[in-house]
Amino acid sequence: MSCNLLLKWITIFITVFWSCQTIGKNIGDGWGKITQEQAQFYKANDVSETTLKLTKKWYEIASAAWGNYGPTEFWLVGKSAEAAEDLNRKYCEVRKEKEPRLRLKDCLGRDYSFGDYVRDGGAGLNTRRGEHSDWSGFIITLSAKYPGPEEEDYRVVVLHEYFHIYQHAHIFSRKESERNSRNQVNPWWAEGGAEYMAQLLYSRQKGVRPGYLKEKMRQKLRSLKDLKKGESITEIPYGERAMIAYDLGTWFIAYLIDRTSEEAYLKGFYRDLNKEGFEGSFQKNFGLSSKAMLEAFHQSFLPLSEEEKLKILP
Ligand SMILES: [Zn+2]
Repeated sequence: MSCNLLLKWITIFITVFWSCQTIGKNIGDGWGKITQEQAQFYKANDVSETTLKLTKKWYEIASAAWGNYGPTEFWLVGKSAEAAEDLNRKYCEVRKEKEPRLRLKDCLGRDYSFGDYVRDGGAGLNTRRGEHSDWSGFIITLSAKYPGPEEEDYRVVVLHEYFHIYQHAHIFSRKESERNSRNQVNPWWAEGGAEYMAQLLYSRQKGVRPGYLKEKMRQKLRSLKDLKKGESITEIPYGERAMIAYDLGTWFIAYLIDRTSEEAYLKGFYRDLNKEGFEGSFQKNFGLSSKAMLEAFHQSFLPLSEEEKLKILP
């Protein structure tokens, strides 16, 4: 064999070897695929079995409706700061087990921990999908207030947080900038979508009063008075005025679905999002640029009377 030929074979071998490595990596990473693996649940000592059961039930409703994505963890925080601290230690042990390179003391000293949830209430999703992390997955934290598990809104919040999982499961990139551009940095799109889909799914459950969706959506219209003249909902960041973007973003998704279809939003847009990017998938599935759709929403839809607006709801 001549030296040249040998070199050629070596090159081919290396190319094939690297391609297999890359393909193997992608196959091994089940991101965005529906999984049989159920979410894991952890709770603070002062969280009741009833709350645990309730949360599991609404997770099951959400994953049955939108698909089961994971790996997913639920962390339930109660009212006791001490119990939250114990749960925090457990949390860091679990993190260390899944990401051995992580330093325990960094986890324990992290910015927003379960103690903060005891104080502030609320709920949140932490999507782990970093360029350098060993573990990708979803971590949902639920607290005992705003809303508490005894409130109707708690069920909707479980659905809302789970819809964020659905959104993030459809973005494969580990690069923050690529993830952000697909999910949008300001809350109008992702929060509007999570909130509308959660309210819609909840309104369809057995035993939920007719008129529930209209009642909730009517409440969200109160934010309209806080939108400045000529301001677009897309300009409002997380923070002090975020509620306006949450509320009117929810209305934007309702409007978008009315002009296109639930299928186009839920299936089409998210199916194409990873490959086509936000704007590409938007135009492909909704037939207009996001700019044109937003303009129509602000200029033609929002000025309608409350009753006219409510008519677009199912
Ligand atoms: Zn949210």
